[in-house]
Amino acid sequence: MSKPLLRRGTIVAAFGRHYEIELADGTLATGFPRGKKSPFAVGDEVELSADGQITGHAPRRSLLYRSDAYREKLIAANATQLLLVVATDPSFSDMLLSRALVAAEHQGLHTTIVLNKSDLAAALPAARKLLAPFVALGCRVVELSAKLDASPLLPLLAGECSVLVGQSGMGKSTLTNALVPGAAAPTRELSTALDSGKHTTTYARLYKLPSDTCPGGTLIDSPGLQEFGLKHLTPQEIEFGFAEFRPFLGQCRFRDCQHQAEPDCAIKAAVASGVIHQRRLDHFRQFISENRHGSH
Ligand code: GDP
Ligand code: ZN
Repeated sequence: MSKPLLRRGTIVAAFGRHYEIELADGTLATGFPRGKKSPFAVGDEVELSADGQITGHAPRRSLLYRSDAYREKLIAANATQLLLVVATDPSFSDMLLSRALVAAEHQGLHTTIVLNKSDLAAALPAARKLLAPFVALGCRVVELSAKLDASPLLPLLAGECSVLVGQSGMGKSTLTNALVPGAAAPTRELSTALDSGKHTTTYARLYKLPSDTCPGGTLIDSPGLQEFGLKHLTPQEIEFGFAEFRPFLGQCRFRDCQHQAEPDCAIKAAVASGVIHQRRLDHFRQFISENRHGSH
């Protein structure tokens, strides 16, 4: 008998210690890592041995991780776009948006902000105001109601591998279900109805978007992903995540200016003249201080 060949495929779901892999012929297989660690992520192109061991992954064009208190966890490989979902109601954290933008810039992803629940019109002005600094720096914002019609988003997802990120309650699951027929992502209503909120462990999954309306588009939903840790980044990498700072870098009096209390700081001057938004400088300072404490 000839030696079984390695099979190739894409990881479409991660369940901690095992993975679901879509093979080239469209069938699904289960794969396990060789050792104790799980060094693969949804979106990885992998090779699978006949007995189900994942023997390696192709070079990645991007890699996103979440850091929590105990470990860094791989979330998604080979994504090209971050889809940041916020809502009119309840309100959202603009600092989480800045955090996600730093992670996106670091991995070379572009970013689209989805302002969901646009049908709750009374809350629209406040949400738009919170998003103004991001619009000013060139971020694309799409307003929609996932409940009524998510189709305005589809053209922006064609040919992209988009990762959904958002605080819970923003409507990520509703949006996933609207974009992917048959996705069956558990929304708040469903979790409540099944009383499963506490027991369900949620996992990252990659969906193919409909090829007629969104050719070449895939969507990665990682229910646990609300926030990106930035502790593995240097101050320069954090600064790189603030695109609107770039024209002013190198113009501060001190070359290693961290835009805090230093005199003749070009970033502070840009804030004073209204070119850079104060909120964004606040976020930058917060991330820098977290890293400083984290390294002690
Ligand atoms: P997730 O936690 O981000 O996955 O949020 P869900 O998809 O579970 O949605 C949270 C709540 O917001 C649910 O009660 C949804 O029905 C509601 N919701 C989601 N999208 C919309 C929308 O476009 N308009 C309105 N009015 N409610 C929405
Ligand atoms: Zn400065």
